[in-house]
Amino acid sequence: MAESPQDRAAWLREELQRHERLYYGEAKPEISDRDFDRLMAELAAIEEKHPELRTADSPTRRVGGEPTEGFEQVEHEPPMLSLDNTYDHDELEEWVERLTRLLPDTGFEFICELKVDGVSLSLLYEDGVLTQAATRGNGRVGDLVTENARTIRTLPLRLPAAAPARLLVRAETYMRRSTFVALNEERAAAGQELYANPRNTTAGTVRLLDSRDVARRRLDLACYEWVQPAGDDAEERPSHGESLAALAGLGLPVNDSWRRCKGLDEVVAYCDDWQEKRGELDFEIDGVVVKVDDPELRDRLGATAKAPRWAVAFKFEAEQAETVVRAINAQVGRTGAVTPVAELEPVLVAGTTVKRATLHNYEDLARKDVRVGDAVVIEKGGDIIPKVVSVFEDRRGPESKPFAPPTECPVCGEKLYQPEEEALLRCVNAACPAVVREAIRHFASRNAMDIEGMGDWLVGELVGGGLVRDPADLYGLTVEQLADLKKTNDARLGEKAAARTVASLPESKQRSLSRLIYALGIRFVGDSTASLLARRFRTVDGLAAASAEELEEVDEIGARIAESVRAFFDSERNQVLLRRLKEAGLEFEEEDAAADENVDQPLEGQVFVLTGTLEGMTRNEAGARIKALGGKVTGSVSSRTTYLVAGEKAGSKLRKAEQLGVEVLTEAGLENLLSSNR
Ligand code: AMP
Ligand code: ZN
Repeated sequence: MAESPQDRAAWLREELQRHERLYYGEAKPEISDRDFDRLMAELAAIEEKHPELRTADSPTRRVGGEPTEGFEQVEHEPPMLSLDNTYDHDELEEWVERLTRLLPDTGFEFICELKVDGVSLSLLYEDGVLTQAATRGNGRVGDLVTENARTIRTLPLRLPAAAPARLLVRAETYMRRSTFVALNEERAAAGQELYANPRNTTAGTVRLLDSRDVARRRLDLACYEWVQPAGDDAEERPSHGESLAALAGLGLPVNDSWRRCKGLDEVVAYCDDWQEKRGELDFEIDGVVVKVDDPELRDRLGATAKAPRWAVAFKFEAEQAETVVRAINAQVGRTGAVTPVAELEPVLVAGTTVKRATLHNYEDLARKDVRVGDAVVIEKGGDIIPKVVSVFEDRRGPESKPFAPPTECPVCGEKLYQPEEEALLRCVNAACPAVVREAIRHFASRNAMDIEGMGDWLVGELVGGGLVRDPADLYGLTVEQLADLKKTNDARLGEKAAARTVASLPESKQRSLSRLIYALGIRFVGDSTASLLARRFRTVDGLAAASAEELEEVDEIGARIAESVRAFFDSERNQVLLRRLKEAGLEFEEEDAAADENVDQPLEGQVFVLTGTLEGMTRNEAGARIKALGGKVTGSVSSRTTYLVAGEKAGSKLRKAEQLGVEVLTEAGLENLLSSNR
């Protein structure tokens, strides 16, 4: 009896999904990998012949194949925040005390979870189908990596019918130790360079452009947070523990090591237990995350700009290992700072092969008296750069002698300078290729001007070859200049790649003012400070003209940053650079500032919370209109809330606002406020 391709495909999909569950979910495979691959190949063949039978949740999607052209960006709502860290029991206790101070007379229950060391993803299921997967990016905007995420075999592409119409989940994707070891074995056999550790390999993998390559790396997934819709007033929201169980019930992978803990003592016991047992896991964890269980309490605790107040990470102690210093090299950074780096006999620490360790600066090095040939103890904790902690002085041979710091820049030969108040040595040659290279790499990087293909290698070539002396030179590059560069002895960069890079230059000129300010690489000005400055001064010229006092008037900007910004714009070299960047056509003004120099921000300083259903506009629209007038919109009511805007069916937030005496606006009231301030 001939089965129709449609029926056969449907059967294959079901069957493959069942085997995936058995294999990855329950570790009880019924068929061999080979037979699994055969079924998969059969389904792929049918879909190839009848593309109309290919569904969004087909297991063949895991094999990858849809090329991803760069990545689209997607906004995170709510943002993906970081976590505050604690490093010992006292700090955990302080955190619990802080909570108690914020909400006295409250009994807290906590959920403790493993802090898997991978890369966070935000997953969106709509009508039960995975429609979006995004990286954290800068927390507010991330890369859309849906095709890549589909290749994660433990990630369900379709949820059972019981799933809500819209489900937003935060999860960690990671690589198992065993997978990592196998991958490196393959690479060793192929004579390729080995990967450093599972975490970095995961980060690189998630952002690969070809999802077929991602599929081969076999990433895994652990879901840790069901993000309830913002401002949801449903009375019976699940506790965090309940929501983890519910996620698992929907077939999403949730690490089942989580526990509900009644108080500090149970939390501490959980942390200590896992610190001890971490080595038994087939994946790396760098700590434990402790979270308040009750959603109502979470709302009331709220978040800082950086992290929620209702959660904290307990970071495990760094792991140590013994090895030998082969050499001490000097590294020149973007600001010209020269720092010593120990080149080590490779050694395994916390699951990572460590080959280099930082020695911070030459003063530190001298104090520890680290010498070439020394046996040393190095330390590495999760995301921390390995460092040398101590030296076995008694094991030194007779030929050992103290390390002499360099007197000249290892890159340009310029005499090094030791600023009085700093422990660092500096190369003050503004044209030092190392300094220029770092500055340009920063300028072109993703969160700055995001110029395609402008990575380490290319920047090195351009600066080394004298084609580029400062960031403004980038905008004069031609395809011919690039296409000729030699990648290796027998390969050139090529027309295509060169054309892509050159084509992305005009695009990069359109980046926002805040990105440009960040890209300039002003000391102490990271991306969030850059965006504060952009918002306040609105043009490069306005910023350049601001006095130190005016700078310090900006929230969160202190004397140190203000001074550094002034010094940057006072430098004649930088003034020339800015002139040239302006001539090249970069965006020197905040977009809407151009239209109206004195845009009024009548709602500045006012904090709004929206709740319930609005009739005449969506909450997003309302939020956008409030923000356009300078107001702020947050998710939870506190004493700092100026207005609660209550639509239909407002619930707990309305009660909270009334308790706190926060002014409540109806939709009509909001409409009034917005139109009278326009
Ligand atoms: P950090 O990057 O140190 O600020 O820590 C925050 C990150 O920890 C999140 O972005 C997640 O990627 C990661 N993480 C791992 N496991 C968990 C967990 N169980 N709960 C929350 N975050 C986690
Ligand atoms: Zn130099």
